[in-house]
Amino acid sequence: MEDLAVSAPSVGPACRSCTAPLSHIVADLGMTPLANSYVEASQLSASEPFFPLRAFVCERCLLVQLEEFESPESIFTDYAYFSSYSDSWLAHARAYVEAISERLGLDGSTQVVEIASNDGYLLQYFKARGIPVLGVDPAANVARVAVERGIPTEVRFFGEATARDLAARGVRPRLLLGNNVLAHVPDLNDFVRGLQVLLPPGGVITMEFPHLLRLMTENQFDTIYHEHFSYFSLIAVEQVFARHGLTLFDVEEIPTHGGSLRIFARHGREDAPPVSGRAGALRAREADAGLRRLATYSAFDEQVKRTKRALLRFLIELKEQGKSVVGYGAAAKGNTLLNYCGVGRDFLDYVVDRSPHKQGRHLPGTRIPILHPDVLRETRPDVVLILPWNIKHEVMEQMAHIREWGGRFAVPIPEVAVHP
Ligand SMILES: [Zn+2]
Repeated sequence: MEDLAVSAPSVGPACRSCTAPLSHIVADLGMTPLANSYVEASQLSASEPFFPLRAFVCERCLLVQLEEFESPESIFTDYAYFSSYSDSWLAHARAYVEAISERLGLDGSTQVVEIASNDGYLLQYFKARGIPVLGVDPAANVARVAVERGIPTEVRFFGEATARDLAARGVRPRLLLGNNVLAHVPDLNDFVRGLQVLLPPGGVITMEFPHLLRLMTENQFDTIYHEHFSYFSLIAVEQVFARHGLTLFDVEEIPTHGGSLRIFARHGREDAPPVSGRAGALRAREADAGLRRLATYSAFDEQVKRTKRALLRFLIELKEQGKSVVGYGAAAKGNTLLNYCGVGRDFLDYVVDRSPHKQGRHLPGTRIPILHPDVLRETRPDVVLILPWNIKHEVMEQMAHIREWGGRFAVPIPEVAVHP
C-alpha cells in the first residue's frame, strides 16, 4: 500500500521553513485519522490509519507546524472538498476578484494563475470579466469539474519544477494567487521558490491563509489537522518569502476561516508598489499578543485541554437529560474536534452536510453518518451542534426551521455555547 506509506523523518522533526530542530509543542491532539478521509459505508468494517496530531512551534522562526508524516498524494488526489458548495465562500471569491481586478487593472491582456484552483469556483469570476485564467490543482476529480466549466487546469502539485515548466510554456501571470494552499504545502520552501520563479517582473502574488493570531486568541485548535501543515503569523510567513527574494508589500485581515490574512508579495528587487503601513502595524500587534514568546505557545496546549473537558461536560449533561444531539457540517475542523474529544455516535446521532459528495459517507474516526440536511425535519433533534463555527450565522439562517420544534443551535468554539 504505497500510497498510505508513512514517510516518518529519520531524525527528529525539522522546521519546514528554516530547518531548525523542533521540540516545543503548541497542541497535542492525540491520535486521529486524516480529517478529510470520509469513510464509505462499504468500509465500515475496516480499520483506519491514525496518526499523531501534534503542532510544534519553531524556536528560531516561530512557524507553528505539524511534523510531516503522510505522503501528500494520498491526502489531496481525491479531495472531497468542492469549494462551490458554500454560499459565503463564493461571495468571498467574487468580492476578491472584483477588488483585485480593479487594484491591478486586470483585463483581457493580463493573465491570472491560481494555485489550488479546486473546481474553478474563483477563476470563473475572472473568466466572466474576460481575463485569461489558468488553474493548477493536484486533485484530478475536482480539476475535471473545473475543466468542464471552461477553466483550463493543470493537474499537478505546484513547486519549483511546475513553475519552471509553466514559465517555459509562456505563462506570465500578472496575478499569481493561492487561497488556502500555503498552509497545506509540505515543502514550503519549494513552493515559495516556485512562486518566485513563475512571477514575471511587475507581477503580484496574493495568498490567503488562516491567521495564527486568531487561532490562538480565539481557541481555534480544531483548525489543526493533518492536511494543514503550517499555521502562519505574519512574523513567520514574511521570513519564508524573504528567503526566496519576495517582499510582502501589503496585508489585509479578512474574516474567512475564522480570521485569515491575505498577503501581497512582489519581487524584492522592485521598489513598487511601496510597502504599506499595514504590515508593520500587524507585526506589532502580533508581538503585543505574545507571538514572539514561547510561553504564549505553551499556554495554548492547556487551554485546548480545558476546552475538551467543557465540551464533554456540556454533551454529557444533554444526554443525561435525554436530549437528542446532532452535528451540522462534515468539515475537517469538526473531525479534529470530535476525534480529540472522543465524541462519537454516543453523543451525536448523525451530522448533516449540504455536499452530496459527503452524504452517505461517515466521519473519519468517529464513524458518525453524514446525512442530507432534510433529515433534521424528520428526526427533530433538540440540539444541532454547528461544527464549522466560522459559518454559524449562515447555518443558523439556513436551518432556522429547527426552532419550529424547539430545536436549539450550539457551537463548540471558542467555548461551548448555546444560541437560543
Ligand atoms: Zn523555523
